[in-house]
Amino acid sequence: MKPLSLPFLAELTVLRRDMHAHPELAFAEKRTADIVARELQAYGLEVHRGLAKTGVVGVLRAGSGKRMVGLRADMDALPLDEQNDFAHRSTHAGCMHACGHDGHTAMLLGAARYLAEHPDFDGRVAFIFQPAEEAEGGAAVMIEEGLFERFPVESVYGLHNWPGLPVGTMAIHAGAVMASTCRLEMTVSAQGSHAAMPQQGVDAIVTACHLVTALQTVAARNLSPLDAAVVSVTQFHAGSAWNILPDEVTLRGTIRTFKPEIQAAVEAAVSRLCQGMAASFGARIEVSFNRLYPPTINTAAEAATCRRVAEKALGHKNVLTDIAPAMTAEDFSFMLQKKPGCYVWLGNGSGEAGCTLHNPNYDFNDEVLSVGIAYWVELVREILHP
Ligand SMILES: [Zn+2]
Ligand SMILES: [Zn+2]
Repeated sequence: MKPLSLPFLAELTVLRRDMHAHPELAFAEKRTADIVARELQAYGLEVHRGLAKTGVVGVLRAGSGKRMVGLRADMDALPLDEQNDFAHRSTHAGCMHACGHDGHTAMLLGAARYLAEHPDFDGRVAFIFQPAEEAEGGAAVMIEEGLFERFPVESVYGLHNWPGLPVGTMAIHAGAVMASTCRLEMTVSAQGSHAAMPQQGVDAIVTACHLVTALQTVAARNLSPLDAAVVSVTQFHAGSAWNILPDEVTLRGTIRTFKPEIQAAVEAAVSRLCQGMAASFGARIEVSFNRLYPPTINTAAEAATCRRVAEKALGHKNVLTDIAPAMTAEDFSFMLQKKPGCYVWLGNGSGEAGCTLHNPNYDFNDEVLSVGIAYWVELVREILHP
């Protein structure tokens, strides 16, 4: 395929950098949503606002077809201080586009503009700009508020820039792309005592230490080695003095899996260890699981379509289909629970010098803008072929 002619690319790059300089956190993407709505309107799309507070959906029609396809970008930034010193670094303290959602938003705007100017498809495209991908589940809120009733797409597509993959390449998974995420909290309650007279109490800290150690066997000794799971304890809170054995320890962590049955097996094993450890030490342990994002699972037919499209847009050798999924999570998974679709990774370059996701030295690579736009455009042409 010959490369798309994108005369507005320089303008779009300026816009991407402007969004990078003005990042906004989950559900507070007001300025960003204003820009998105203004741009979509200028391209001639029908603009809908207010889904999940700051969400924006632009609809583009061509021909007489009634079929509708959904393309999604996320708009939110992360709560960290940017350490880059280029001109477009964040101007908001404690907030940074460290995951490239500024680039995702810009690419989807670019695709909307190109397709508005070259409407060589038959049907409708819903350009979905969602808030709050990072930990807050903006996709689920849009769905709860009627996204797919108001915009009845037959399938839905998403992408994420991927540091470590070369610019001009894409990775497409036939099934699981990313893991589920579940918050784990355990409260160990025992009996406090003088540190010099431990026999008078029940030591919550020692109990919790044994529990953390035992949790390392959950994946290693309860699951098949071919099934992936991570159980990480990330917080251990206890104590107030040198000479007091505290009566309570709070442990927190995260569980990641790719399959619902593995998630259930992990939760059962964690619960069993908590019960057993409490009995062994004479303490009480309460455990809670807060399931957040489900695993991101592409549907086979749509993944095959994306692969075909990417091979056309990027060249056969630039489409990787043997890359392992990541244990990170993504709320596009909620959309994939409702609709068939596919979520792909787009090469963002080497990932050197801290240019990795959620790093204070990250930046979206502007060379990728045209690659993402070419993919989105070709996807619409393929699915809504006149
Ligand atoms: Zn992120
Ligand atoms: Zn992200």
